[in-house]
Amino acid sequence: MSTPYWGPDFDALAAFDPDIAGVVTDELDRLRSGLQLIASENFTSPAVLAALGSTLSNKYAEGYPGRRYYGGCEVVDRAEEIGIARAKELFGAEHANLQPHSGANANLAVYGAFMQPGDTFLAMALPHGGHLTHGAKVSFSGKWFNAVPYGVAEKTEHIDYDQVRDLAREHRPKMIICGGSAIPRLIDFPVFREIADEVGAVLMVDAAHFIGLVAGKAIPSPVPYADVVTFTTHKVLRGPRGGAIVCKAEHAKAIDKAAFPMMQGGPLMHAVAAKAVNFKECLTPEYQAYTRQVVANAQALTEGLATEGLRPVAGGTDTHLALLDLQETGVTGVDAETRCGAAGIVLNKNAIPFDPQPASVASGIRVGSPAVTTQGMTESDMKSIASLIGTAIRDVDGSRTAEVAAGVRELVGAHPAYPEPGRTS
Ligand SMILES: *Cc1c(COP(=O)(O)O)cnc(C)c1O
Repeated sequence: MSTPYWGPDFDALAAFDPDIAGVVTDELDRLRSGLQLIASENFTSPAVLAALGSTLSNKYAEGYPGRRYYGGCEVVDRAEEIGIARAKELFGAEHANLQPHSGANANLAVYGAFMQPGDTFLAMALPHGGHLTHGAKVSFSGKWFNAVPYGVAEKTEHIDYDQVRDLAREHRPKMIICGGSAIPRLIDFPVFREIADEVGAVLMVDAAHFIGLVAGKAIPSPVPYADVVTFTTHKVLRGPRGGAIVCKAEHAKAIDKAAFPMMQGGPLMHAVAAKAVNFKECLTPEYQAYTRQVVANAQALTEGLATEGLRPVAGGTDTHLALLDLQETGVTGVDAETRCGAAGIVLNKNAIPFDPQPASVASGIRVGSPAVTTQGMTESDMKSIASLIGTAIRDVDGSRTAEVAAGVRELVGAHPAYPEPGRTS
């Protein structure tokens, strides 16, 4: 290295701007002191954080490696080239685009690549586990396109593939989308491929939530079946906040043109570099073991919650997340979220399929194991967490908050997030 490393200097930040330095340290304290069970969150590594907090943030690099609209890109080009090569290796993909700033942006780029405003696509309904960008009226996806929703079958709470096929035949959509934010079970990608082929639709898999499990080989990959797969890099995957797209070679040009210049301007080169670091982490045996533990922990947590009287939607989980129906406990999702939060258990209320409550109240909660697994927790810890949640949600008057909070402190004390340097666990 010819120049000294110029990286994040926290002391300089604290001296210049104590307000924001305080936010940074308080947030680290918050992450360390509670149980983080939000299924879409994780603790990214110091290596990824170092790339994020680098001078690569300064560079304008509109375009792609070797064909940029600005000079001086020869160094940052290397970050994007390395990242693309790693993404292709990690997912066995023919093409990768690492520029989307987020998962929503990645989806917008794909819609722009394959559809015109007013065109029809099929996607999972939001109240059944889909995502806002899959056709919700408040999102570009529902404003600019004709979104036809499918859902789960009432009896099994699994995706209703017969309904998907019927709707595809009826509406002849340009695209069929599968994936979502609250789908605990595996998705049958070959069946979606078959339906898409029958009606001549592009198959897009939105793997934002579960792509990390695919990277770690803990669950089957959508990449061989889908025309295009979008994902976020910050959920189970454990990289920087951002989005990415992998696709078949035949779609490479359309996807790249849609990501830039149709959808975005300059890429965040510090984030692209951090994505490359994350993909290198994901190629290790340690990461694969991590993802298997994520699934084992989610299953142990779900079983524990079932014994507390919380009903697992779809009968359980094959992934990193579970959806629990609280109706038998008489507690709403919003009350459960508040009571758990008061004791340091961070999770979210969530609509369940055919929910009688409005989304702002909800009859369920969603829990996920990615962050607590990064902390080194295992199945026995999940049993303890389930029992703490069971106590917290039934605690109508807050009389047991202190007891639950003490249980939380014990667990996070034994498995600290971002341990102090020198600590071994
Ligand atoms: C999280 C998520 C997204 C959006 O990601 P953002 O980075 O928040 O824009 C898109 N689709 C699905 C299914 C998601 O779970």
